[in-house]
Amino acid sequence: PQICAPGRSHFSTAVEPSSSKSNPPRVPNLIGGRFVDSKSSTVIDVINPATQEVVSQVPLSTDEEFKAAVSAAKKAYPLWRNTPITTRQRVMLKFQELIRRDMDKLALNVTTEQGKTLKDAQGDVFRGLEVVEHACGMATLQMGEYVSNVSHGIDTYSIREPLGVCAGICPFNFPAMIPLWMFPVAVTCGNTFVLKPSEKDPELALEAGLPEGVLNIVHGTHVCDHLDIVNSICDDDDIKAISFVGSNVAGMHIYSRAAAKGKRVQSNMGAKNHAIVLPDANVDATLNALVAAGFGAAGQRCMALSTVIFVGDAKSWKAKLVERAKALKVNAGTEPDTDLGPVISKQAKERIHKLVKSGVESGAKLLLDGRNIVVPGYESGNFIGPTILSDITTNMECYKEEIFGPVLLFMEADSLEEAISIINSNKYGNGASIFTTSGVAARKFQTEIEAGQVGINVPIPVPLPFFSFTGNKASFAGDLNFYDNVVCCSLVEPFDPILEKNTQRIALQTLYLKEDK
Ligand code: NAD
Repeated sequence: PQICAPGRSHFSTAVEPSSSKSNPPRVPNLIGGRFVDSKSSTVIDVINPATQEVVSQVPLSTDEEFKAAVSAAKKAYPLWRNTPITTRQRVMLKFQELIRRDMDKLALNVTTEQGKTLKDAQGDVFRGLEVVEHACGMATLQMGEYVSNVSHGIDTYSIREPLGVCAGICPFNFPAMIPLWMFPVAVTCGNTFVLKPSEKDPELALEAGLPEGVLNIVHGTHVCDHLDIVNSICDDDDIKAISFVGSNVAGMHIYSRAAAKGKRVQSNMGAKNHAIVLPDANVDATLNALVAAGFGAAGQRCMALSTVIFVGDAKSWKAKLVERAKALKVNAGTEPDTDLGPVISKQAKERIHKLVKSGVESGAKLLLDGRNIVVPGYESGNFIGPTILSDITTNMECYKEEIFGPVLLFMEADSLEEAISIINSNKYGNGASIFTTSGVAARKFQTEIEAGQVGINVPIPVPLPFFSFTGNKASFAGDLNFYDNVVCCSLVEPFDPILEKNTQRIALQTLYLKEDK
């Protein structure tokens, strides 16, 4: 297991109780084509959130190691950028084959270190695999433009060129998918890459035929006496562009610091995704979708639906939604039939508890309280059961903050206009969905809503890689957001194990499309 995410781990000097394998493996860096142990004596424990067992240790790399990784990427660049695009594509073709071969192993690693259910972990790997598949067609994607005779005897053409050394900084919640969002596209375009942090894929990438130095991995964190590796990435003159995914505090810091050094930055950040439920929606399919998108992956998805706005008579569905949420199975991700696993760390659990408490103190009604759940056999795990707060107002802390846990907030509105205006006033704009059978309402929502990913009867509208994954307002910063709105109105199937139980969804969507004509 080689997944590193300091946000969910703790330094080995921490006093929190945790049990340890006799010798948890130390995750090596990948520098210049070789896996090398860091010389650093300080490590971060990577803890299984269901058991508190230390499953591996991530080194806090030294400045020399970081510089060696950048220098290996810089050295590899001239040859790699001049390697034929068809050869670069073939490496990706091999890479996707290896990911498929090791899918189950990779998914198990994700579950052990991150806690999500095995099915969810397979989805995590599969979503990353789709990006690798996309990169296999890079020659077509890189086609330039040509206009002949723009002036007398002068033709003009534009060429897409690689930038040089690029870097990626990843969050904990999709340990396979997010690194795979970043480096496959970058390297197939001819760039070389430095990733912080990573998981086991790089080994496969080497086996697939990436030459030494094209992909490098250095582990570390921003809170570190030795080296603030995040700032080092922002400041290094040889790094030309940064892909970041994570929280707003980190994302805005990285965006401004790296932009000040003239780098391109693509910063995908936090979210507060809303769903509007109109009374004409299909009750069964909608409730199932809300439960899946609110509580799947224990709410630790940037596209999790965390707030439901019931319009008019739809508010009478609340009790049914609570019943469905109660029926979900909370257990370790490795146990069969688990619907949601633990949250990533004790600190995350405490933070979520605090936000729920502050909601209740400021007048919210606790319709379902999962805070005191005990999971037999996993008593020390960081579990929180599905939790629902009703009567939410926009000034409450639990509404303003991203909770990033299995907590669903209920609001009410008298009209679609009012519901849209609540969503548009929220600082985030990652995703938003509407549940309705009215084509007119769906179209109004699609046109007026301020969110990057828009779902119509789709709870988690995540676009496939041939569209861009975007985000509006505080959910995104950068200049590489190609589309302001990506609309997934019917056929995109978000991978969600809870949602899979629903058999009516496609029928509902067909109904919507027919009515729309
Ligand atoms: P995080 O911001 O804590 O960590 C992300 C990365 O940034 C890590 O590599 C970490 O080392 C570094 N980092 C953390 N704090 C930093 C700081 N103050 N200064 C500099 N670097 C710092 O995020 P996380 O908890 O790992 O992930 C959860 C967050 O990621 C949520 O907010 C979620 O919405 C967001 N997310 C967004 C998307 C998206 O596409 N918009 C996708 C997945 C996750």
